[in-house]
Amino acid sequence: MTDTSTTKPVSQLVVLTGPSGVGKGTLVKALLKRHPALYLSVSATTRSPRPGEIVGKDYHFVDQDQFQRMVDQGELLEWAEYAGNYYGTPKAQITTQLEQGVSVILEIELLGARQIQKTFPSALRLFIHPPSLAVLEQRLRARGKDSPEAIQRRLARSREELLAGHEFDGEIVNDDLEKAIAELEAVIFQ
Ligand code: 5GP
Repeated sequence: MTDTSTTKPVSQLVVLTGPSGVGKGTLVKALLKRHPALYLSVSATTRSPRPGEIVGKDYHFVDQDQFQRMVDQGELLEWAEYAGNYYGTPKAQITTQLEQGVSVILEIELLGARQIQKTFPSALRLFIHPPSLAVLEQRLRARGKDSPEAIQRRLARSREELLAGHEFDGEIVNDDLEKAIAELEAVIFQ
């Protein structure tokens, strides 16, 4: 019989992807509240902070040169351009957490998720759908955080992203928050 007493806890890398405004942030917050042992990766971005966003908690806000340096030095697990800004996942924090047996959540867009599939094939990749494009547009406008131009860029990108849901290990429709969280928990902790 195998002695499992010294076995490290099984940790996994969970990737959540879905169009801007689909509610990934809300889902992740709820998930972390219920499962504080999960670690949410903090991305680097060249986007300017939105009102209320906290440096180092919501994002590491960097300029283009700093971002390029991170790319050149191989510090990012994945990165992508999204609606005119760059976003990337710092590798070091992820590796440390996973080595310690902590499961890590990445909340990233489609191109980054595709990179993870290649570089980290064991990751669990989940795609979050809105109930419809109309609802997504409504949510983006209602949150009032982006300019009309930025909303249009995000919607255009969303239409492309929604076609890729089938590439993922699981697809969840966020029409009811509680239901969506329960579905997420079921796939993550199965
Ligand atoms: P937002 O500007 O609304 O915070 O994020 C825009 C998009 O970038 C969202 O779909 C978000 O999930 C994605 N994103 C955030 N961080 C990263 C990252 O590190 N890498 C990639 N590829 N996408 C990210």
